[in-house]
Amino acid sequence: MNSSKHPQLLLILFALLACGWITGCPQPPASTTGNQNGAAASGENSPTHDDLPSVTEKLAELNETVVATLADPASYGDAHEALHEVGTLLEKVQSLSQTSGLSEDTQGMINDAVKNLLVGYGQFDEQLHGSEDEFDAEALATQLDESMEILQEIVAME
Ligand SMILES: [Zn+2]
Repeated sequence: MNSSKHPQLLLILFALLACGWITGCPQPPASTTGNQNGAAASGENSPTHDDLPSVTEKLAELNETVVATLADPASYGDAHEALHEVGTLLEKVQSLSQTSGLSEDTQGMINDAVKNLLVGYGQFDEQLHGSEDEFDAEALATQLDESMEILQEIVAME
């Protein structure tokens, strides 16, 4: 609806949020077990497929988790882990979209959807970090669902 925001501002916001996710949050729970990378170290048959459709699919699953917690303020905290994961996935989607031979138009649409998601997740993460900014959970849930749907449609067309 309000697609007339300044692109530069969004880029700055993008940078700030990515930075905030790294520096402003407690370390991700997954890294406390000490066995990361241990099982998947055997090279070419790595179980992680970093192609655009599968990363987008994973992102959609996390988005569902995040959006579900928005229905009840008591469950907001359950989204925190997912929120930090989506940051990584969004970066992957963006870099994959630039190396997958997509048209500039398609790349642009993916970029827009990624930015919308990033801004939305960023708002939510700030809430979880005690921000006193106005927070409309219902509007945010709608925004995230719509942006995710657009992203999925673009990826499915390729
Ligand atoms: Zn956080």
